[in-house]
Amino acid sequence: MGKVTGFMEYERLEEGYAPVPTRLKHYKEFVVGLKADDAKVQAARCMDCGTPFCNNGCPVNNIIPDFNDLVYSNQWKHAATVLHSTNNFPEFTGRICPAPCEAACVLNVNDDAVGIKSIEHAIADRAWEEGWIVPQKAAVRTGRKVAVVGSGPAGLAAAQQLARAGHDVTVFEKNDRVGGLLRYGIPDFKMEKTHIDRRVAQMEAEGVVFRTGVVVGEWPKGTKITNFGKEAVSAEQLKSEFDAVLLAAGSEVSRDLPVPGRDLDGVHYAMEFLPLQNKVNAGDKVKGQTLATGKNVIVIGGGDTGSDCVGTSNRHGAKSVTQFELMPMPPEQENKPLVWPYWPTKLRTSSSHDEGCSREFAIATKEFLGDKGKLTGLKTVHIEFKDGKLVEVAGTEKVWPAELVLLAMGFTNPLGSLLQSFGVDADSRGNAKAGVDEKAGYRTNADKVWAAGDVRRGQSLVVWAIREGRQAARAIDLALMGASTLPR
Ligand SMILES: Cc1cc2nc3c(=O)[nH]c(=O)nc-3n(C[C@H](O)[C@H](O)[C@H](O)COP(=O)(O)OP(=O)(O)OC[C@H]3O[C@@H](n4cnc5c(N)ncnc54)[C@H](O)[C@@H]3O)c2cc1C
Ligand code: SF4
Repeated sequence: MGKVTGFMEYERLEEGYAPVPTRLKHYKEFVVGLKADDAKVQAARCMDCGTPFCNNGCPVNNIIPDFNDLVYSNQWKHAATVLHSTNNFPEFTGRICPAPCEAACVLNVNDDAVGIKSIEHAIADRAWEEGWIVPQKAAVRTGRKVAVVGSGPAGLAAAQQLARAGHDVTVFEKNDRVGGLLRYGIPDFKMEKTHIDRRVAQMEAEGVVFRTGVVVGEWPKGTKITNFGKEAVSAEQLKSEFDAVLLAAGSEVSRDLPVPGRDLDGVHYAMEFLPLQNKVNAGDKVKGQTLATGKNVIVIGGGDTGSDCVGTSNRHGAKSVTQFELMPMPPEQENKPLVWPYWPTKLRTSSSHDEGCSREFAIATKEFLGDKGKLTGLKTVHIEFKDGKLVEVAGTEKVWPAELVLLAMGFTNPLGSLLQSFGVDADSRGNAKAGVDEKAGYRTNADKVWAAGDVRRGQSLVVWAIREGRQAARAIDLALMGASTLPR
């Protein structure tokens, strides 16, 4: 363990942020990570509990007490090895994971949790700076071929694990760049895309082949997809050319709000807004980009995607930004004895909210209003729970001016007819049906086809996608070789 009395001596240290006026002028990351000495002090707070709940709270089961101890004793390289033993991409999670591990930290019962995520961030960045992260080529090639459909965190984690087990891995990605929602969802100010590029370079050196701009499966004519791809590959082709196919295609269908006026010019899905700014940041020329500049923006949906729309709108120079959430405002503090070590429902204020945004809770949109086909505002009503049901509160109707509305109400299932093309059964929500225990091993009902990440569990978190990609890789390795040394 770090320092025996560390948790009594030291307080939690938060990472710093660049001041709001400065960071609003650009799309780059603005979090200032902990310096090595500060990370060491933070690691000293870890109590190395007999039962480390943090390790279970973390979906990839990072071995948190061990890397805390190693940072405390200045063994950074060893800490990086421990971190990478459970997580392929700690520089991603060290930036954008909501850190369920910290909710589960034992110190969090009656004090502030250890800053686990900030320590992970510091270890991962140091490992890159020091050149400790290098390609790990398989010593023996198996000659088995695996196709991975989708290059988000699930596909990337699976591809890396499978290549390290010696398989020939090809990743098919419909977009023009690798990364899934890490690339074309999460804004650069939360995670710059160079982090993906250097991992792609590492994986290419490990033997992974990336084919971008390739859509897998048959798509009904007129299917609306965020498709930057030109080439198409059928499900049959993949199944005949590869020994195994892993579907890691995400869950990209946005939830709609079909109220009167939905067709007005100015009402957009968040995913018609966020990816284009990321493309512009990457230096692409984008025709007709939807901009929030000078507009009253209303973001419908109180989650991460909504918060990213707030941050991007403020960087565009919106006149005002308001975010609506259907559910009532949660409490500022959770009832710890009741919820610990689980992820609590509480009011979460993101760095994007801090940049300027008014938030409305328990509010429903009844109608979009417009003039000559253009959005001018929307009509809302407040709602409340009565007898277990959400009902409108009489007399609370209100009209809001808005020239841009962004729908960020979550995602339902994978795009197009990917699952049907492979003959994969869907669950009740339309995601791929596949069990995750050792026996079921992420295998779908279709021969040679596995599924992992959001395409299976529905839209979730990067850290869950990494976990599923790693576990599915092991299941595929086991099926192809009869045994596997990949960790589960
Ligand atoms: C705006 C936004 C912000 C988010 N912020 C966070 C956050 O801060 N922290 C966090 O942990 N999570 C966040 N998430 C959720 C997180 O990004 C996802 O849970 C995660 O990326 C899922 O990984 P995945 O690999 O399963 O799928 P994805 O990342 O969705 O990747 C799937 C890939 O498959 C490709 N694909 C789909 N169909 C085909 C096809 N037929 N042929 C070829 N390619 C195909 C897609 O183009 C895509 O690149 C956010 C999500 C959004 C939308
Ligand atoms: S990946 Fe997320 S949950 Fe796991 S240790 Fe890192 S911040 Fe915590």
